[in-house]
Amino acid sequence: MGGRVVGGLLKSLEDPILSKWIVVALALSVGLNGYLFNMARWGISESNLPESTEHHHIDRKELARAQRFNETEPSTIPLGQYIAPTPQPTEPATPALTDDEGDGLTMTKTKSAPSVNSVNRSNAELDQMLLEKRVPEMTDEEVVSMSMRGKIPGYALEKTLGDFTRAVKVRRTIISRTKATSHITHSLDRSKLPYQSYDWERVFGACCENVVGYMPLPVGVAGPLVIDGQSYFIPMATTEGVLVASASRGCKAINSGGGAITVLTGDGMTRGPCVSFETLERAGAAKLWLDSEEGQNVMKKAFNSTSRFARLQTMKTALAGTNLYIRFRTTTGDAMGMNMISKGVEHALNIMATDGGFDDMTIVSVSGNYCMDKKPAAINWIEGRGKSVVAEAIIPGDVVKSVLKCDVDTLVELNISKNLIGSAMAGAMGGFNAHAANIVAAIFLATGQDPAQVVESSNCITIMKNLNGALQISVSMPSLEVGTLGGGTILEPQSAMLDLLGVRGSHPTNPGDNARRLARIIAASVLAGELSLCSALAAGHLVRAHMQHNRSAAPSRTTTPAPPTPVTLAMTNGFEKANGKNAAAQQRSKR
Ligand code: NAP
Repeated sequence: MGGRVVGGLLKSLEDPILSKWIVVALALSVGLNGYLFNMARWGISESNLPESTEHHHIDRKELARAQRFNETEPSTIPLGQYIAPTPQPTEPATPALTDDEGDGLTMTKTKSAPSVNSVNRSNAELDQMLLEKRVPEMTDEEVVSMSMRGKIPGYALEKTLGDFTRAVKVRRTIISRTKATSHITHSLDRSKLPYQSYDWERVFGACCENVVGYMPLPVGVAGPLVIDGQSYFIPMATTEGVLVASASRGCKAINSGGGAITVLTGDGMTRGPCVSFETLERAGAAKLWLDSEEGQNVMKKAFNSTSRFARLQTMKTALAGTNLYIRFRTTTGDAMGMNMISKGVEHALNIMATDGGFDDMTIVSVSGNYCMDKKPAAINWIEGRGKSVVAEAIIPGDVVKSVLKCDVDTLVELNISKNLIGSAMAGAMGGFNAHAANIVAAIFLATGQDPAQVVESSNCITIMKNLNGALQISVSMPSLEVGTLGGGTILEPQSAMLDLLGVRGSHPTNPGDNARRLARIIAASVLAGELSLCSALAAGHLVRAHMQHNRSAAPSRTTTPAPPTPVTLAMTNGFEKANGKNAAAQQRSKR
């Protein structure tokens, strides 16, 4: 039967009219199937989108353009092997436009741009110039168009132009013209984000990519604060009004009692890779080897060979099934040390695989979160990370009254109820303080530290006692991660603030002393911050002071400042003389 049907069909193909109709029917069927297939595919992908984006048109060309702009070179640069390309740091070839200089999109020509007519160069001419590495000769407008046509990736402008400031300026224009910013009324290229007169050479290949400007922050100084017998002005970058004034008041109170003293209880940065084995037996053998004297010696030798300053102190190992976590703890000289320690760990693990006989080991990640970097974790709070510092001050009872407008017992009680019991009620981990993070963040920003490490660097327990009528206050900070070289400390403004503290760069005789001193300074500054905020809270001043300092309108000719109240005097700063009255008592009697 089937044979007869097929036979009939084949016969009909021989008929010239019938065969034509069959070809037309087949073509129609293929077209319809293709259409239905695409409809089904689009239906599926769009139905996966969240409700809010369901009806948004996706411009695939725009998406592709955005991806091209974002395309970067491999982001994992082999540690220790990265050599930053060195474009010529020239005078900006294109005189940089100021914010007021007319239309930011009308770009001026480079010095070497041959003629006005060259603005009208064809795409083919421009492509040829790109091939000949003559992009610096193009006008800014031409560079923008090349980039928007996907010929010059956004990330490569510095390298291609050989001029940092010009690259930043061109990038701002490109971003301002992409569809992604078309709905924005204040375009980036004309924005108040500054980009001129900045040493971009230091940033390139070290601190930031796809640069469009820099973020200026107000920097104030608290103090001076006497720490271990030496006086310091503390640089703080912040936008929180009252913070610097409050820390200054704390400094004044601490100085009146003879200053702060600090004790450094630990110095060791950590990196905790995760390695794995096929069987628990092998993972256990690796742990035992690492814990043994032989393993420690092999790993120390390997690790220490990678740096002149990083020295492996200990390795703490922990098994989770067939995963093995190794917490390397090392000194890092004056560097915060994350890069140098990662480099050392990578090398030591390779030696473990070859010389240690663990070539069946898989290195899952050079950071297995057992470090633990930039995330809250009990391990840093308990075992320490970076520098561990305790700072203490003893403030005479009369200074507590005159400067802090409070009394010793009220402060001690407040500390117990708030920083100890309150934090315990909240299930805090390392957060037994009033606002250590405020001071840590402000000094980190001012001195070029890694801001994300404020997370663990702010671990702190504040303790207050009545010591024969005086206030004994201490802060214990087990995981302050700081450096005086590398990272953001290489930028000029940040290094100027390290200069202010006398700790910039490598310590000339004892590498590591500068970073350790910086950690002591930060801990003592936190002490000042704790003292002042807790006093303000105890005296009920906090809200009023904040309203006064955070919400002050920009000064105008018509506004007359109100006369200072005892509260503003108390919060203003540590330079002022105390007015000698017990403001806390006044507060209470008013109520
Ligand atoms: P680094 O600048 O990468 O390394 C310090 C360099 O300075 C080393 O080459 C070191 O020499 C040299 N050096 C000269 N004098 C020194 C001294 N007295 N003490 C110490 N080193 C001295 O700095 P890093 O602190 O290791 O890394 C900081 C950067 O890591 C920051 O940018 C931070 O944002 C980033 N970071 C990285 C990770 C990560 O996972 N890799 C995580 C967090 C942060 P040697 O070559 O002899 O060691």
